[in-house]
Amino acid sequence: MKPAVDTLVFETVQSYRDWLSKLRVQQPGVEVGLVPTMGALHEGHATLIRRARQECQRVVVSIFVNPMQFGPNEDFDRYPRTFPNDLEICRAAGVDAVFHPSVQEVYARPLEEMTKVIPPNELIDKLCGAFRPGHFEGVATIVLKLFTMLQPAVAYFGEKDYQQLTVIRRMVEDLNVPVKIIGVPTVREADGLALSSRNVYLTGTEREVAPKLQQALQQVVQASESRAAVKQAVEAARSELYKVPNLTVQYLEVCDANSLQFLESFRKPFVVLVAAKLGNVRLIDNIVVR
Ligand code: AMP
Repeated sequence: MKPAVDTLVFETVQSYRDWLSKLRVQQPGVEVGLVPTMGALHEGHATLIRRARQECQRVVVSIFVNPMQFGPNEDFDRYPRTFPNDLEICRAAGVDAVFHPSVQEVYARPLEEMTKVIPPNELIDKLCGAFRPGHFEGVATIVLKLFTMLQPAVAYFGEKDYQQLTVIRRMVEDLNVPVKIIGVPTVREADGLALSSRNVYLTGTEREVAPKLQQALQQVVQASESRAAVKQAVEAARSELYKVPNLTVQYLEVCDANSLQFLESFRKPFVVLVAAKLGNVRLIDNIVVR
């Protein structure tokens, strides 16, 4: 079957900009929606793409495994790379253009010599930032670079990476970046596990117990409804997680949904966030209560 649009692939900023310039002549005021990804696309990404497709005249997906956001002992080298399949998903979803640059195209000099975006400490010294030093600098830097390279009017991010979404919203506000940020709710498997490109690395048994993370979050939300204190709610949920074999909890916290400040009593809007290693696979999840 012929796809609805012929998805173009750009590997350089120049070739993308040439396309955008022509488009702007043909269609003045045309607005691009961007979905930034690291590839290994799944239904979570597809949901972001569909949202962009509904709201924007042109949809661009970037596929770039960003070395700057990986620590020296993290999984940059073994992060899944499935470009042909990703392109099929983009074609089927009616994506106009895929931006798939090389590391050299994005970072013309060694990473340590690059100008970086440093988000405020109070957003990144906790949660994932405490376990992944430098991660959010890498995220903020690549997102700002993608915005300047690709010039979208709107960009779509998953709530699945809640701290990332918060950091990006703050960057856009603080640096007057003219891009509208849309957060999209987390897409889950039927048993509650949040979709993630890293789920493919779970063994059969790990996959079976992985939904326990989401259940722990639910348990905290339920406790909040019966007016429990945050500390007790979190401790009860943690003790459930300690029973799961091969699971090491990194954090389970309740934060203000806007500032990410830790809360001692439940005050909406709040977010319950968890990160854990299941075997060798690092999983994160959260529930936002508005
Ligand atoms: P990644 O390729 O993992 O960097 O993710 C690219 C974008 O997709 C990010 O904005 C993620 O938050 C979003 N995303 C990943 N998994 C999900 C999910 N299960 N539900 C919604 N958005 C997601």
